Amino acid sequence: MSSFQQDGSKMNATPQATQKATQQTVTSVHRWTDKLLTFTTTKPDGYSFTAGQYARMGLPDESGMIWRAYSMTSAPSDAELEFYGIIVEGGLFTTQLDGIKPGDPIWIERQPYGFMTVDRFTDGNDLWMLSTGTGIGPFISILRDPYVWGRFHNLVLVHCVRHADELAYRDELTALAQNPPGNLSNAGRLQVIRSVTRDEPADSKTLSGRITTLLQNGELEQRAGLPLSVEGSRIMLCGNPEMIEETRRLLHERGMRPVRRAIPGQFVTENYW
Ligand SMILES: Cc1cc2nc3c(=O)[nH]c(=O)nc-3n(C[C@H](O)[C@H](O)[C@H](O)COP(=O)(O)OP(=O)(O)OC[C@H]3O[C@@H](n4cnc5c(N)ncnc54)[C@H](O)[C@@H]3O)c2cc1C
Repeated sequence: MSSFQQDGSKMNATPQATQKATQQTVTSVHRWTDKLLTFTTTKPDGYSFTAGQYARMGLPDESGMIWRAYSMTSAPSDAELEFYGIIVEGGLFTTQLDGIKPGDPIWIERQPYGFMTVDRFTDGNDLWMLSTGTGIGPFISILRDPYVWGRFHNLVLVHCVRHADELAYRDELTALAQNPPGNLSNAGRLQVIRSVTRDEPADSKTLSGRITTLLQNGELEQRAGLPLSVEGSRIMLCGNPEMIEETRRLLHERGMRPVRRAIPGQFVTENYW
């Protein structure tokens, strides 16, 4: 019997019962805020993933093990795995996650999962990565990997959060934009567009409002200096399911379609709950 439900969520089992998982060790924990953390773990032997994929991980509680899906933020070539998570109030898994510290055990399934990867797109020049909150995670991995920089001319990462202190990975993204990985002579150009929905923007660079609003009123395209087009734009959406559903609808109105197994399209999505 699988340790996971189809959506990558929980199902209790003891560590011994999960032949699919291997025990690893937490190697570092960085707190961005009291609710947001980046943590690293040792990497299971032979673990190989494509940037954009997620791991299924388990932590013990008094009733056994709790399992959840977490996107890798590390590059596939990194020696350790890195993840970016939020502590959900009263959340079964994240209540356990809140207490982790270096040296703690954590279980990781031997196989990575997920289809929100750049190689799903067969054409297009501009890659738009639209994220809410921790949904930025897979895009950090994608941008740490040289592949995407050689594949697209323009990379636009949109990160929308409630409060300005939730705009994690700022410094690293700024550095990546100036110095892409891989020493490519023709690396794409990265623009990071940040938006807050509850705070006033701290500076003129930060936008105010939800991704769907900024799509509808044209601010995203204006800020990026790029049109969203069926021919040129490929779009990845990750995070809050309401944002994804509404954005899908807006993209449909513009003639865009999801990428299907053997059918090229303009966008791919990943819901976090
Ligand atoms: C494919 C996939 C990849 C995921 N990757 C990540 C990741 O990289 N980082 C991460 O923090 N979470 C990620 N999640 C969500 C994660 O698996 C758990 O749902 C989350 O940690 C909450 O678990 P919990 O048991 O503490 O809360 P639960 O008791 O399961 O409560 C779930 C509720 O918490 C809220 N919630 C869940 N996840 C989030 C979130 N990320 N941000 C805001 N609210 C949330 C929702 O309202 C949801 O209904 C991913 C989920 C999927 C399906």
